[in-house]
Amino acid sequence: METLDYREQIPVRANSYDIVVAGGGVAGVAAALTAARSGKRALLIEKSNLLGGLGTLGQVNLFVPMCNGRGTQIIFGLCEELAQLSRKYGWAQVPKEWANGQPAEPTAVRYCVRYSPVCFGMAMLKFLEDSGVDLLLDTIVSTPVMDGRHCRGVIVEGKSGREFIRGKMFIDVTGDGDLMRRAGMQVVVGENFETYMAKAITLESCRQAAESGDIGRAFELSFGGPADLYGHQQPEEIPLWHGTSTDETTAYLLRNQKCLLRKYEQVPANTYELLIPLMPQSRTSCRIAGEYVLKAEDAYRHFDDSVAAICDFDRRDFLYEVPYRTLFQKGYDNIATAGRCAAGTGYGWDVLRVIPPAILTGQAIGNAACLALDTGRGFDSIEVQELQKRQDAQNVRIHFDDALVPDGSAATGEYAPAFGHV
Ligand SMILES: Cc1cc2nc3c(=O)[nH]c(=O)nc-3n(C[C@H](O)[C@H](O)[C@H](O)COP(=O)(O)OP(=O)(O)OC[C@H]3O[C@@H](n4cnc5c(N)ncnc54)[C@H](O)[C@@H]3O)c2cc1C
Repeated sequence: METLDYREQIPVRANSYDIVVAGGGVAGVAAALTAARSGKRALLIEKSNLLGGLGTLGQVNLFVPMCNGRGTQIIFGLCEELAQLSRKYGWAQVPKEWANGQPAEPTAVRYCVRYSPVCFGMAMLKFLEDSGVDLLLDTIVSTPVMDGRHCRGVIVEGKSGREFIRGKMFIDVTGDGDLMRRAGMQVVVGENFETYMAKAITLESCRQAAESGDIGRAFELSFGGPADLYGHQQPEEIPLWHGTSTDETTAYLLRNQKCLLRKYEQVPANTYELLIPLMPQSRTSCRIAGEYVLKAEDAYRHFDDSVAAICDFDRRDFLYEVPYRTLFQKGYDNIATAGRCAAGTGYGWDVLRVIPPAILTGQAIGNAACLALDTGRGFDSIEVQELQKRQDAQNVRIHFDDALVPDGSAATGEYAPAFGHV
């Protein structure tokens, strides 16, 4: 490929930070909030205009189940706090069995929360600002400036042009591993099916919303690319896409927006409105080649370095623990990750990447960054027991309770999804 050798003097922003978080999805929000609450100077940089990433901009608006499918809540910590926040503005749907928290009786109804994406995004912005996080919106993190494997700072680009921001610890929660890839860390690029999940508001859906008194019913799913996370309905002629190349992403967006337009060509004007994902819906674009890679078979396995217990969003009973090793890479002392860039493979990656686990790994890596600063260590050398203590003190369950494991570890495998699509 032809290359250009180009040098420039880049202004250095006056403020430097203890912890710089690249990406304002739910994992980034959790990491930045955790850092600021621990008294660290934290900066969150988001390339769009709204926080929440796929969970707002991406038209995803569901905390998938946070319970085991038998009435026991598994996921707490910041996830529970943000789930409560998502119910504060706009509209929210919570199963009645869970409306007031843990039900007194066992129930097969799963604990999940559907919310208004825009209101949740705005609520998180206020929440972060109130907690003392500095924010840069409409600003893209482009390049880490490295001393070998140690990051000195990042070059960002916004309306003021390119600027350099100094920091001590860096958390790549861009979902696409932008910082890690450019820092030379080892990553694994994923493959995505052709999903393009938009929402339609129609005269009929408005009528149903008005009649039921539930504004949430005004939004109907409307697909461009129809594939789900398992690849069902993947159009044969369309290749899987990675989400880490400009041309490929542009082609995906073009294909799907044209497909949606075609679908509405014959629908009378003035009878519908469309809400499309404002970021590409790649589920697994890029993840760290972590020190451990979570896999489906790790269900019911305890890990000494677990930072959170999580549950399977589709299958009743299945419980997992997330090893801290899924979030960092040896040799890199001050760059690590969380959310959908955490190390998982196959269905293990799916279990790990959805909103509730993404928030808990964001919280874990925020705590890990603070601990590293407090003890003069790196992400790859902190005392995991101390990290677990911090998670525990913040209401995160580190290990699942063995009493919840079905007899002989034989989980039912019963499909017990929440309402909606993942
Ligand atoms: C079609 C689809 C349906 C889904 N459905 C569900 C569901 O129903 N429930 C559920 O729990 N999960 C669902 N998921 C998964 C879930 O939404 C995501 O895995 C989760 O939200 C990931 O959060 P994150 O913070 O790790 O990453 P992201 O949400 O991807 O956030 C990354 C953020 O970083 C920003 N960013 C990216 N690059 C840069 C850069 N260079 N500089 C600055 N900012 C940058 C982005 O704008 C974004 O805000 C779904 C995913 C898809 C694709």
